[in-house]
Amino acid sequence: MKKFLSPFIIIFMLIQFGTICFAQSQHKQSQSLFMTKEWSEKANTMVKYQIEKRGVTNEKVLNVMRNTPRHLFVPPALASMAYDDYPLPIGEDQTISQPYVVALMTDLLNLKGNEKILEIGTGSGYQAAVLAQLVDSVYTIEIVESLANNSKQRLQNLNYKNVNVRHGDGYKGWPEAAPFDAIIVTAAPKEVPQSLIDQLKFGGKIIIPVGDKWQELQLITKIDKDNVKKKSVIPVRFVPMVHPTE
Ligand code: SAH
Repeated sequence: MKKFLSPFIIIFMLIQFGTICFAQSQHKQSQSLFMTKEWSEKANTMVKYQIEKRGVTNEKVLNVMRNTPRHLFVPPALASMAYDDYPLPIGEDQTISQPYVVALMTDLLNLKGNEKILEIGTGSGYQAAVLAQLVDSVYTIEIVESLANNSKQRLQNLNYKNVNVRHGDGYKGWPEAAPFDAIIVTAAPKEVPQSLIDQLKFGGKIIIPVGDKWQELQLITKIDKDNVKKKSVIPVRFVPMVHPTE
């Protein structure tokens, strides 16, 4: 009986071991599958010269920027420019942000890994994909329906399972999922929407471009129910955060 069992046990253990290895590597593989050697080289160069050189040092953020297939978030005709130092059009008069701005905004949120994050302005879904690899869950709202639908599909195809995409008005936030640990706004309102501050936890941060023609990136920390601390970061240029009636 013993002689019979041992090969079975060995085979069983090998299968178990294989399953565990496969499960552990699956998420990584699904990301890197899309990053061939050529795209990886472009992404590494992008990180080195556009992001690290400008002072972003958080290794987790840098790694995610190296591994996220930005070329799949832009129209195919623009794929070869995806890792260059500027925003690009994504249709519907909207843009995917410059890589440095994505990295900087992500870095300033000082993420630990267990956060629930709200993004306003899904656009291509790229910023949401970057965040998805650094936090527990991402909720993202896009006002243009076709962009919301395309991004939802894209994020699903690329296996980002912890992102929830909604077509809707970002000024309303996502009350059912609130409160959030952090909020990132990637379109510029004239003033910081109070509804978003209300949906933030105490001690949580909002990174947001504020203004009209002249905009500045602000990092806002919610101290308590009635008080926030504001810090100006840099001048920026984002598309406006529109009201549904505009
Ligand atoms: N984060 C995006 C880039 C955002 S561009 C990316 O990684 O690709 C800004 C986006 O904000 C646009 O897609 C625009 O349609 C959207 N937007 C503008 N006003 C909005 C609002 N009130 N609510 C939600 N989305 C809005």
